[in-house]
Amino acid sequence: MRMVYILSLVLASISTTILIFLLSKRATNSAIISTFIVLLLLILFWAVPQIILASVTLPETTYALIDKISGFGYVFIPVAFSIFTLAYTDMLKRAVQLWFILYVYVLAIVFLFFAWNTDLIEQHSHGSIVSTNWGVHTKVGDLFPLIVVWFESIIIFSMIPLIRHYRKILDPVQKRQTLLLIIAMLIPLSFGTITNGLFPILHIMIMPIAIPLTSIMALIIAYAIMKYGLFEMSSQTILSSLGSGIITLNKEKKIMQINDSALDTFGVEAKEIVGQHFDTLFKLRRQPPVYGVFSKESPLISVLNTGKQTTSRNYFLNFKNKKRFAVEFTISPIIASKKSIVGLTIMFHDISREKELEKSKNEFIGIASHELKTPLTAVIGFSQIFERQLHKEGNANHIHFIKTINDQLIKMKDLVEDLLNVSRLETGEFVVRKKPSNIDELIEKVVNDFQGDNTTHRIVRQGKSKVKISLDAEKIRQVITNLISNAIKYSPDANKVILVVEEQKNSIIIRVQDFGIGIPKKDEHKIFQRFYRTSISQHSTISGFGLGLYISNAIVRGHKGKMWVDSTEGKGSTFSFSLPKK
Ligand code: ADP
Repeated sequence: MRMVYILSLVLASISTTILIFLLSKRATNSAIISTFIVLLLLILFWAVPQIILASVTLPETTYALIDKISGFGYVFIPVAFSIFTLAYTDMLKRAVQLWFILYVYVLAIVFLFFAWNTDLIEQHSHGSIVSTNWGVHTKVGDLFPLIVVWFESIIIFSMIPLIRHYRKILDPVQKRQTLLLIIAMLIPLSFGTITNGLFPILHIMIMPIAIPLTSIMALIIAYAIMKYGLFEMSSQTILSSLGSGIITLNKEKKIMQINDSALDTFGVEAKEIVGQHFDTLFKLRRQPPVYGVFSKESPLISVLNTGKQTTSRNYFLNFKNKKRFAVEFTISPIIASKKSIVGLTIMFHDISREKELEKSKNEFIGIASHELKTPLTAVIGFSQIFERQLHKEGNANHIHFIKTINDQLIKMKDLVEDLLNVSRLETGEFVVRKKPSNIDELIEKVVNDFQGDNTTHRIVRQGKSKVKISLDAEKIRQVITNLISNAIKYSPDANKVILVVEEQKNSIIIRVQDFGIGIPKKDEHKIFQRFYRTSISQHSTISGFGLGLYISNAIVRGHKGKMWVDSTEGKGSTFSFSLPKK
């Protein structure tokens, strides 16, 4: 039995040493790791002298000296343990509060003093020590029960914040890390103090198991380090040092965590925010003016329902109705191991300044394009008169020049018109004026215009619709014109474009199909964005600004319709849009 005891002491010391080695190699030397290393060192301080005391018979003075070293380790274990749990749960500030100093540090020193200088805690004289057959000495003094109660109470009080912290964590990996830590600590410390502290007081002589349990603790923690990167860098530290604001919510939209950057933005402290319901403090509002229809559902709810991450830069975040920020945010679901959504993280930046700049830029584009349009219209008018004049005179040479000038001027006017529309869209001045119209007649006109001056592509019409629907004919004409001109522009080697009108129960679908360069799959969802051009068109000689589809899509959305594309790279694209009948 004595050998078993000594062996378990040796095992505990080796495993603790290995753990210290493992931890000291962690790159981040955070408070958590340092306090944990101190705790392990104290365990060693206690265990190694115990090995010596149990395995060799020593003269009185040497025995007393080694015992003192062991006592030092023992008394400071609860101190280190409590500081470690405070560091782990981000409450290290408590370690310098008066009650903590008195109850933990001062009492530890008082007990150590008594242990070293009196027989009140442990008997020092060889004669009074009863050696049991597992080599342990019952040497408790009158005050020994006090130290056990003190020891136990600190362990229990330190476990409370740890368990609370565990319940608050949403991140599944961090949750498992903390659970393992709780198990690893709770078992050896509580069972250990029972067998090594409580039972000797009650004169119950069973094998003290604190030491073998220490090996188990070391094993569990080593496992947690290897498997879950325990202590690697707490997500709290990462969150705090991020430049973006981050708020974590649970499923009920209660605020669980908020990082320093977010706190700075709102000018508050965490305790004013954490635990409150998001909606009582914040309002997330879609920015006006946005053209067309959009989902009224809060993005928080839609992420909770669908589990899909969402990003936007078109929202305002109101804090306590006091501060308002234009924000760019990404809301992501927090998914637990069973694939269930346990909460959300909102990552945001204040982009109020960028939005202001954007606004001035839009206003500038609006004014500049408006000012350009008037002289340009006049120049085009006169240049067309000039062209007709040359035709009359039959001046073939000059007709060619003036025709080129006119074509370029028209291109310029279209671009100015596009820029003006973009600026109107951004500032909310883009309006749709609907009137009942016949879509077939509209299409006929557009196709005739195209066939008039386009000799490379034939426009093949399929399907008809006689119904009259309420639309802004000028703007829908602009959409169809844009789709056909893109179809021609991006299919330089083809000779036809198919235009289909399809009547459905509640809507009319118009499709424009080409047999051209197509759109890479990765670009498909981006082509309706302002100024976006696909990678192939950027590298081709086909010129463009990436505004046509953005405007067309906005016009269609303004009619409560939808626009989409089906495309195969190298084979061609079909752009479709729907217009509701009512
Ligand atoms: P622009 O043609 O002036 O660049 P658009 O907004 O009309 O602007 O189109 C945006 C981008 O979408 C184009 O640059 C092109 O890359 C791609 N695109 C549009 N229509 C087609 C099409 N029919 N085939 C292939 N790519 C297209």
